[in-house]
Amino acid sequence: KKIIIAIDGHSSTGKSTMAKQLAKELGYVYVDTGAMYRAVALFAMKQGFIKSDFFDKQALINSLDQLSLSFIFNETRGFAEMYLNNENVEDQIRTLEVSAQVSVVAAVSEVRRLLVAQQQKMGEEKGIVMDGRDIGTVVFPNAELKLFVTASAEIRAKRRYDELLAKGEIVSYDEIFQNVVERDRIDSSRSDSPLVKAADAIEIDNSNLSREQQFELILKLAHERI
Ligand code: C5P
Repeated sequence: KKIIIAIDGHSSTGKSTMAKQLAKELGYVYVDTGAMYRAVALFAMKQGFIKSDFFDKQALINSLDQLSLSFIFNETRGFAEMYLNNENVEDQIRTLEVSAQVSVVAAVSEVRRLLVAQQQKMGEEKGIVMDGRDIGTVVFPNAELKLFVTASAEIRAKRRYDELLAKGEIVSYDEIFQNVVERDRIDSSRSDSPLVKAADAIEIDNSNLSREQQFELILKLAHERI
């Protein structure tokens, strides 16, 4: 049987790497919903609706019908890349500038409504691993397996720092740490679909777990339900 696997949790917990690996192992489709919110934030930045100290929320809401999002599988990279109005934005959405704006954009109810509807459509055929913040609570409250992944803010910031450094980006640990803490704060305190653990989600704190240990654990949980 094919199931829906919902993976939620804090930013930079390695959720997406794990979700991607799990989907590959099970032959499932992987959907990174954070990429969709990031693409909307990038759209708002490109249109000039949002800057560091300015956000024209209404202008963004009014333009949502001009925004089209899609995922196209890249064989070489082995995952689906994010496209915004037919432009590949997979790399542009991963910058620190987008990370700094995305939570504000993701707090807009109209944006959430639009993306949640698209995500629910993607899950109609099951056989899906979806990661985000509200998958087990809002998008698929009936998902057969729900995971809630956490780790300490210091560990998450360090992982993100190492990742960006490895890509050759010039970054400061303090700036990343601030961004991680700030995104947690906005994600957990917004009025629409705040980041909370679903009552029936299994919590995994991976501060002290290796990638292999964690993967073994979730693969076992998935097989118990398939
Ligand atoms: O997962 P990622 O860190 O790429 O997500 C970026 C941001 O998008 C999160 O910090 C959060 O503000 C927002 N998000 C959300 N709901 C989701 C996925 C992401 O609000 N399902």
